[in-house]
Amino acid sequence: SMTRFDGDLRFENVSFHYPGKPEPILDNVSFHVAPGEKLAIMGATGSGKSTLLNLIPRIFEATEGKIYVGGVEVNEWGLKDLRDAIGLVPQQSILFTGSILENLSWGDVEAAPDELEEAAKKAQIHESIDLFPKKYGTRVGQKGVNLSGGQKQRLSIARALVRKPSILILDDSTSALDVKTEMALWESLEKEAATMLVVTQKVQTAIGADHILLLDEGKVVGYGKHADL
Ligand code: ATP
Repeated sequence: SMTRFDGDLRFENVSFHYPGKPEPILDNVSFHVAPGEKLAIMGATGSGKSTLLNLIPRIFEATEGKIYVGGVEVNEWGLKDLRDAIGLVPQQSILFTGSILENLSWGDVEAAPDELEEAAKKAQIHESIDLFPKKYGTRVGQKGVNLSGGQKQRLSIARALVRKPSILILDDSTSALDVKTEMALWESLEKEAATMLVVTQKVQTAIGADHILLLDEGKVVGYGKHADL
């Protein structure tokens, strides 16, 4: 069963260090994303962006501070419900050997083929799939077709959309997309009304966000609209 909530996200004085490593990777991070808002997260490589994202579905747990989704602390959530509600698209798309359809429905046996196709359309990958002779039955991974980096990213985004997440998190997941495709993607994601967190290196992408959070060595060094930073 899918748990929906309003997509509200709050970090309250969150600090984090990896187990067994003393150096703080996140240092007293606080911010709030209102339901339906789009937050761009920027910062140099190694500033803690991916780490911050991984704390939300509890891939790692905060060392100090609190994280709330839908007003409920993440530790209070059932792990499956939490992860169903949060669509995290990792930096490296993970596809396994199997058909495109299997890759899209991975972990969600309840999704019907037309729901998978709908998600693929939103992620701007349906047209590419439709050009393959076997369409959604096309095998990817070992011995399968070679997908481009941008196609893999869009397939990963589609997989996250299948679950209709209340918070969609894209960890640099649009880096390989051309400008036109990326614009079309944002346009269709906007209609989802989900809260979005988007790690990006592209200023153009950040400008389209409601707010930008700037990280430097695990600290928030900026928060606001693009024009204010
Ligand atoms: P990039 O833009 O390169 O993806 P980032 O801002 O996402 O970087 P993180 O991947 O969160 O940064 O890494 C932050 C710091 O945490 C880095 O110094 C990194 O080496 C360290 N780190 C990341 N993962 C682990 C881990 N599993 N164990 C220990 N240290 C880690």
